Amino acid sequence: MHSVQTDIIKQGFMVKRSQNKKPYTSVNYKKRWLSLTSRYLIYSDNTPENKSEIKGRIDLQNVHTIEVANKFIGVKDAKGEPFLIGYHGDEDYTLFLIATDPKERSDWIIALRTVCADNKNVKPFYHPVPLSGKRWPCCDANRNADGCKECEVWSLRPTNKEISTRNKENDLPNGSSQTQQQQQVSPIMPGGAAPGTPSSTKPKTKVVVALFKYKASESGDLSLDKNQEYEVIDDSQEHWWKVKDSKGNTGYIPSNYVKEKELLGLQQYEWYVNDMSRQRSESLLKQEDKEGCFVVRNSSTKGLYTLSLYTKVQQPHVKHYHIKQNSRGEFFLSEKHCCISIPDLINYHKHNSGGLASRLKTTPCDRAAPATAGLSHDKWEIDHNELMLNEELGSGQFGVVRKGKWRGSIEVAVKMMKEGTMSEDDFIEEAKVMTKLQHTNLVQLYGVCSKKRPIFIVTEYMKYGSLLNHLRRYETTLCNNRGLLLDMCIQVCKGMAYLERHNYIHRDLAARNCLVGTENIVKVADFGLARYVLDDQYTSSGGSKFPIKWAPPEVLNYTRFSSKSDIWAYGVLMWEVFSCGKMPYGRLKNTEVVERVQKGLILEQPKACYKEVYDVMRKCWSHLPENRPSFRVLKDQLLTISQRILVD
Ligand code: ADP
Repeated sequence: MHSVQTDIIKQGFMVKRSQNKKPYTSVNYKKRWLSLTSRYLIYSDNTPENKSEIKGRIDLQNVHTIEVANKFIGVKDAKGEPFLIGYHGDEDYTLFLIATDPKERSDWIIALRTVCADNKNVKPFYHPVPLSGKRWPCCDANRNADGCKECEVWSLRPTNKEISTRNKENDLPNGSSQTQQQQQVSPIMPGGAAPGTPSSTKPKTKVVVALFKYKASESGDLSLDKNQEYEVIDDSQEHWWKVKDSKGNTGYIPSNYVKEKELLGLQQYEWYVNDMSRQRSESLLKQEDKEGCFVVRNSSTKGLYTLSLYTKVQQPHVKHYHIKQNSRGEFFLSEKHCCISIPDLINYHKHNSGGLASRLKTTPCDRAAPATAGLSHDKWEIDHNELMLNEELGSGQFGVVRKGKWRGSIEVAVKMMKEGTMSEDDFIEEAKVMTKLQHTNLVQLYGVCSKKRPIFIVTEYMKYGSLLNHLRRYETTLCNNRGLLLDMCIQVCKGMAYLERHNYIHRDLAARNCLVGTENIVKVADFGLARYVLDDQYTSSGGSKFPIKWAPPEVLNYTRFSSKSDIWAYGVLMWEVFSCGKMPYGRLKNTEVVERVQKGLILEQPKACYKEVYDVMRKCWSHLPENRPSFRVLKDQLLTISQRILVD
């Protein structure tokens, strides 16, 4: 049965979850011998020396996802560190493999991604657990829903390079001799370690490093110290993991505050800001206003990095430099000074300007930690008495919004719901789900105070208030910075793409329902709230408070909301952004707007708007919902436009 495999890149035992390609077969976990070649991932029931039979193989050209998976809780045969390989066959399949320890898993992921580096159609999102019946247990979406978790960038990042350098340094041979090493590691057998396994090969636990400081607020939580390591005990829930610190204390921590040590890469460095856009990096550095202040961020071209540097020479401005790689894989900003890794390169330029506008002197300090999904593990009910209410931030449809502090430390915004404006019990139920929605471009719902009336909705505080007011207030500066306007649209689109992926419809997307925070971050607020409003004037399309100007024909005609009606509203929001906060359709009355929309007349191109961006708006205003693009597609289109228009 064996073909001669001449180009084995990596091999070893792992536990494989059955793929259940035929429905109604039961799930099992079996120990398999995996061989990675440049073309296939082959799985057999034993090593080639031991009369093995090939059980199956995956054509690596068809692979679109290679990601860490969540642990399968309660499955005793599935102990270890799972990861998954998504690939196209006659259908879409996912192979789950379970490595012995995090190092082994990360080695396999790196090896597979390296072989698949040139694959087309690599997916941006995935589900980290197996499908259960017709639903994805990770996000409770139906089987056709797109992934709910963002994939890692696959390119040969410096982490890989650093790892291979590290291997070389440790004299760990590559290729077939590494294979022998692999073979010596006793894989964890279904049900636990094989009897007689030497203690040195006991599975290592997942270790994470804190990216931010975190102060525990409930007794079951654990505080985090920045840069400290923690052992993960339970990562079965998406947002709160149970971990152990070096002193043996255990408790829950927000999962977005840590990163797996093996996958840490550049995130351990203060100067690395991940996916921050060019425009936001400029805002951040200008705000700091220090000569030589810098950050490194992911470039808009996947897999590349950009250095953004602030200098006051001649006049204060930010310069952006691509970090390039030469044929030997070394990194450089100016070809004369090449370094083995990006951290080395940064270090070099901390001491020598080497052709840059300035030496790299400092990084922005006191950057805010992200919001957590709820104020503690499994917490969404908030005690009124633990909120200190301060100044009024504004008032809207539901009542007054005030700035507040929870337990004297966490800044929050508190929406005090006017009694009788919403169906409270239904909303409170929904709030439990909504606290679990977490994305950089969504205003985080922390929870509700529902034990007394009026009920309070407690959310993340956003320093600069509503996007609409922000656009109007800074009209003159913003209209001269079209890149920033486009970036705002892209940020909203990212938040909406997350909602779309979770099959969550906003129903009232508009600039007035987005908020602006520090570093020019824009977040979508009030998603899904419209469903709980009791006021007919707001909910019925004939009502005076109904957002007619943001509504597509199918909503005006049949009140048919969908992610595609959100897309129409998003087009109008883009128009608001590029008009710096003008009212769509000017002073036209609602009835006149309806007439225009039904006739297929659309909003005109705003003065500050690029032609390409207006073309995107027009696609959002396709009369038939099915002709409108998805947020996911829109996001990619806008990023491509931004890359073309602006030098990265
Ligand atoms: P409603 O939903 O009742 O219409 P809004 O959400 O529009 O109320 O809030 C009214 C105003 O309060 C907003 O325009 C904004 O200025 C302010 N506001 C609301 N939420 C926040 C927040 N999370 N952070 C800061 N300001 C906020």
